[in-house]
Amino acid sequence: MASLKQLLDLQHVDTALHQLQHRLTTLPERATLAAALVARDRIKKESLNISSQQKNAQRDIDLLEASNKQFESAIVKYAQQLKTIIAPREAEALQHEIAMASAERSANDDRELVLLETAEQFDRQLAELTFQIAVQETAIENANLALALVIAECEALRIDLEAKRTGCADAVDPQLLSLYNLKRGKRNAPVVADLHGVTCQSCHLDLSPVELSALKKLPTTELPECPNCDCLLAI
Ligand SMILES: [Zn+2]
Repeated sequence: MASLKQLLDLQHVDTALHQLQHRLTTLPERATLAAALVARDRIKKESLNISSQQKNAQRDIDLLEASNKQFESAIVKYAQQLKTIIAPREAEALQHEIAMASAERSANDDRELVLLETAEQFDRQLAELTFQIAVQETAIENANLALALVIAECEALRIDLEAKRTGCADAVDPQLLSLYNLKRGKRNAPVVADLHGVTCQSCHLDLSPVELSALKKLPTTELPECPNCDCLLAI
């Protein structure tokens, strides 16, 4: 039975590298950053929506004020005409026009008051949303920093493991290494594992005493394999 101790060391390093890669793709810091970005964009969208409504309200206020200026000019004009008119019927008509213009102006004032209150409400909402955007920007900045830090940690770990891997691979018989690489390309589970008691550390199934005894009796030219998962067994 050939010794697979060095190959098992290599397998442990490769497993650690695989786990590191998995950790990198599922970092919680990445999810935190993504959540902060989504929250910031949602608030920005809401802010743009309120801002657009605010502009509409302001445009309506401007229109009402322009309209009122026209009514006021008309009232002044009618009032002056009234001074020069003698015929009662014409005076009555002008007074009617003045009353109509005054009523319209008054109605515009009421509408403008409502719009001003709405615009103030929009102002308050926009101030709150601006504050919330700033909070999210800080959260994004912190999440970016945390992510960069953990990625740097992983990278340092990866460099260590790669160096260790080179050492481990050098210690393995080249033929065995070729076999290992070939099997590694075909399976996700470990190529080589050891036994804890009678349990295979790849498939976590127990070997029977008969199976174990058969493996131990194998000649040195043959590689022991788990009868359940076909991985090589360093026993
Ligand atoms: Zn197994």
